[in-house]
Amino acid sequence: MKIVVVGGGIIGLFTAFYLKREGVDVVVVEQGEVGGWSRAAAGILEFTRFVINRINVRSYPRKYLSMMLRGDARIKTWDWRWISTYLKVWGKEPPQEMWEAIKALGDFSQRQYRALAEAKNDFDYSEEPLYEVGIDVEKALEEARRDPLSPRVESATCCGREALAYLDAAKLATDMFIERMMRELEGVQFVNKKAQEVAGREVWLEGGDVIQGDAVVVAAGYWARKLGIPVAPFKGYGFRTKAKAEKMFIEMSKGVAVVPLSRWTKVTGRFDLDGTEDHGPAQKVLERARQTLGDFEVVDMVVGYRPCTPDGFPVVDRIGNVTVVTGACRLGWTYGPALGKLAADLALGKGGLEVLSMARFRR
Ligand SMILES: Cc1cc2nc3c(=O)[nH]c(=O)nc-3n(C[C@H](O)[C@H](O)[C@H](O)COP(=O)(O)OP(=O)(O)OC[C@H]3O[C@@H](n4cnc5c(N)ncnc54)[C@H](O)[C@@H]3O)c2cc1C
Repeated sequence: MKIVVVGGGIIGLFTAFYLKREGVDVVVVEQGEVGGWSRAAAGILEFTRFVINRINVRSYPRKYLSMMLRGDARIKTWDWRWISTYLKVWGKEPPQEMWEAIKALGDFSQRQYRALAEAKNDFDYSEEPLYEVGIDVEKALEEARRDPLSPRVESATCCGREALAYLDAAKLATDMFIERMMRELEGVQFVNKKAQEVAGREVWLEGGDVIQGDAVVVAAGYWARKLGIPVAPFKGYGFRTKAKAEKMFIEMSKGVAVVPLSRWTKVTGRFDLDGTEDHGPAQKVLERARQTLGDFEVVDMVVGYRPCTPDGFPVVDRIGNVTVVTGACRLGWTYGPALGKLAADLALGKGGLEVLSMARFRR
């Protein structure tokens, strides 16, 4: 059996990983470097902290507007279908079964990362607290008590300030993990081309070539909007730096995450609704980070586009013959293993999770 996976980001790679385990002949079509836009991520795994993906809660538009007024976010890409779906789901709470699904996805993903690290920790995997600074800690503790995923949190200090310590977190080096995946995926064929169209079991590539499989999985981030999925590109920037930091933390008021790793410190930020190639605000991330960390050397930068659905929950579904997996938003690394497994199962004709299907946006 041959399955074509469009998109070699973290979820496409995990999809290929599980398909390969089932003995499938896998072809991954990736327009850029393997690991693609996912490489930009901070690499923080927050298995029970789904709250950061909840962009349709009532308070969010005001929060986003104040970020825009401060110059910490901007909107350049308007997708009217996404906006109308957003208005439809704004303020709506997900059903209990959605929380159960997310909890199971988090548990599965954590077990998978642990198993990979236990076999060989060549990607800086470490389970340690994530500190959130620049927030109202009392309020955050209260919110965590009401959170359906029951995250383990406590008050703490970080960087000389009051902080919320989130205890179910882990971290990894995204670049090193992608290299590990490439070793795991030995034997998988990678095609470095842009897919133009997906039709039935065929993928039409830029330049006119066509790849045919027994099934197709689209794991191409926000490109899935081509298939009618409401998913928008929330752009962010990831820098490998020589900054000095002892703990992994997020400076919430500045929207900057800092992750110390063995070879560099990852600094990431911005949440711009922007699918363009204009990367002007990238320097703002460094400006904001330097306000906390002081001056530091930058090694390189990668741009990423968080694929976000209007309710912040992922979509894993079948559209005709095509399996689509997208919409992990800020948590694609966290849930990558589980979403890849679900997509692989769906492509192999096994059942999916109704609650993650597109049907929720049609109701
Ligand atoms: C700055 C930043 C920090 C982040 N930090 C974290 C974090 O700490 N923890 C966490 O869990 N998540 C984090 N995220 C979110 C996470 O990176 C995303 O949720 C994740 O990358 C989504 O993975 P994906 O595989 O669905 O899509 P993508 O990462 O968008 O990958 C899609 C891939 O498909 C390719 N592609 C697209 N269209 C085509 C086409 N037509 N033909 C061929 N290939 C195509 C792209 O080149 C890309 O490589 C962060 C994101 C950003 C931007």
